[in-house]
Order: sequence, then C-alpha cells, then structure tokens
Amino acid sequence: MDCLFCKIIAGEIPSKKIYEDELCYAFYDIEPQAPVHFLVIPKEHISGANKISEENCGTIGHMFAVIAKVAKELGCGNDFRVVTNCGPMAGQAVAHLHFHVLAGRNLSWPPG
Ligand code: AMP
Ligand code: ZN
Repeated sequence: MDCLFCKIIAGEIPSKKIYEDELCYAFYDIEPQAPVHFLVIPKEHISGANKISEENCGTIGHMFAVIAKVAKELGCGNDFRVVTNCGPMAGQAVAHLHFHVLAGRNLSWPPG
C-alpha cells in the first residue's frame, strides 16, 4: 500500500521516533507547529477518524493512554492539545489516522 505513515512504521522512510509498541508508533512531526509537536499513529492502517469502529476502538483508547504518557515524559505537563483532521476539508493530508499532539505555547481556539 502506498501510504507514507505505513512506510514510516515499516522503517522504509526515516522518522524521529519517540515511542513504539505493538499497537502504535509516536514520532515528531516534520513541520512542527508548536515547540512540541508529535504524531501518534496506529500500526494498523486506518485511513482516518471516520473509520474508527467498535472493532478498532481498543487501539484508539490505548493510543490516548500513550499520548498522556509521552506528553508527560516530554514535559508538556497538563497543557497540550490533541487534534485529528479527517477529510480534505478538515486539512487531512496523510490518509493514515494520526493524532497531532501540540504543546509548549498558547494555542488559540477555535482553530482556523
Ligand atoms: P494532516 O495534515 O493532519 O494529515 O497532518 C499530516 C502531518 O504529517 C503534517 O503535520 C506533516 O507535517 C506531517 N508529516 C508529513 N510527512 C512527514 C514525515 N515524513 N515525517 C513526519 N511528519 C510528517
Ligand atoms: Zn497507512
């Protein structure tokens, strides 16, 4: 499958890994939008948040536990944002589910 993030998981494209286990992979975003900006992706190819289901939601819950753990380890304290863009109108550029985790600056709301 021609998927950028599947290739990152497979090690075919380099990435700055932060954390990995049997279900998910966390790495720094190549174009950071905040002092801390990393992505958490499932190892299973799920194309976006619209494909989260009863079958795969255990992995999603696990990913949120990983997000909390990694955010703490990176010194984000209790201040960080988790975002996922789904579909072109929301700005999804890579069709493999990913949670952006942003921290280290004041983040405006609502987003643009
Ligand atoms: P989205 O626009 O929500 O689909 O987010 C895709 C994210 O992937 C963007 O923030 C990109 O900067 C990031 N990205 C694209 N290619 C890479 C890569 N090779 N390594 C790390 N992050 C990447
Ligand atoms: Zn993929």
